[in-house]
Amino acid sequence: MKKILITGGAGFLGSHLCERLLTEGNEVICVDNFFTGSKRNIAHLLGNPYFEVIRHDVTFPLYLEVDQIYNLACPASPIHYQHDPVQTTKTSVHGAINMLGLAKRVKARILQASTSEVYGDPEVHPQQESYWGRVNPIGIRSCYDEGKRCAETLFFDYHRQNNLDIKVVRIFNTYGPRMHPNDGRVVSNFIVQALKGEDITIYGEGNQTRSFCYVDDLIEAMVRMMATPTGFTGPVNIGNPVEFTMLELAEKVITLTGSSSKLVYFPLPSDDPRQRKPDISLAQNALNWQPKVTLEEGLKSAIAYFSKLLQEN
Ligand code: NAD
Ligand code: UDP
Repeated sequence: MKKILITGGAGFLGSHLCERLLTEGNEVICVDNFFTGSKRNIAHLLGNPYFEVIRHDVTFPLYLEVDQIYNLACPASPIHYQHDPVQTTKTSVHGAINMLGLAKRVKARILQASTSEVYGDPEVHPQQESYWGRVNPIGIRSCYDEGKRCAETLFFDYHRQNNLDIKVVRIFNTYGPRMHPNDGRVVSNFIVQALKGEDITIYGEGNQTRSFCYVDDLIEAMVRMMATPTGFTGPVNIGNPVEFTMLELAEKVITLTGSSSKLVYFPLPSDDPRQRKPDISLAQNALNWQPKVTLEEGLKSAIAYFSKLLQEN
């Protein structure tokens, strides 16, 4: 049994990770300031004596004794990370410094939830880990993108300078149950709009692409990454390499929900990446992993989740 800290543990991905690591017989400490996470996501875990929740903002130091740290704290949806951009950068940068400092003191292994956003609006397609990216340093997405890039820098400097046992994964768009219905990301937006019979909001012409990974596949890869031998640091891309345009996604959601919603078009937000697709060869080789859940299967389960949620509210 390991004692594992998950920052951002009450969020979408964090709550699935808490559940998975508890199921494997570990002791889990969930640290969250509940900015985008919710108690509802972890309510079913609260009765477990090996689960503990601490309300805490990772931009402030934290003193605990743990064996492993998964650093997920950071709002992930553009609407939320742009709400208070200075706090977003602080969460990534100060949060990383605080968690790395904690890992150094207690000699814990630490994994960073980085992002495909480190590649920005890429001119290399699909994106390999060796690509340095094309990121605007002063745009509205920069607080997130540059914050995450700086966090990666800090992880690698702590590794080189202090021999810290680090792991870095770059997560591509992931979706599934427990995304917040007002999260603002495309999959939850389209499903909630379709279920309510509201217009489906396409930004731009809808020809931009993303590659969507189902949450269970993502969590499996993160856990495998944490278990790789010391010295294997990544960064490793994790995502589903099947690429869709936003129009294709909207059509799939409309078909699967049987909705009569119509498409409406809004301007494309600035710096919105035009295309995104992970090269997952490294994950396939180093983690012996590849995603199993197709977009259609994953959407069905996300639709079932949101439909139940909307009926309850
Ligand atoms: P989320 O917004 O649901 O979860 C983030 C969690 O972090 C929330 O519970 C939030 O309350 C918490 N948090 C935010 N600021 C905090 C702070 N200062 N102190 C403590 N807690 C704080 O998002 P998610 O999709 O679960 O993403 C989790 C992590 O994975 C994030 O770091 C995100 O950048 C990364 N990621 C996610 C995706 C994706 O598609 N879901 C893609 C790339 C990277
Ligand atoms: N998007 C859209 N309608 C929405 C929300 C998002 O067309 O209601 C588009 C958005 O412009 C982007 C893509 O969907 O091109 C993915 O957006 P999301 O916010 O989910 O993630 P990210 O841009 O960070 O990949």
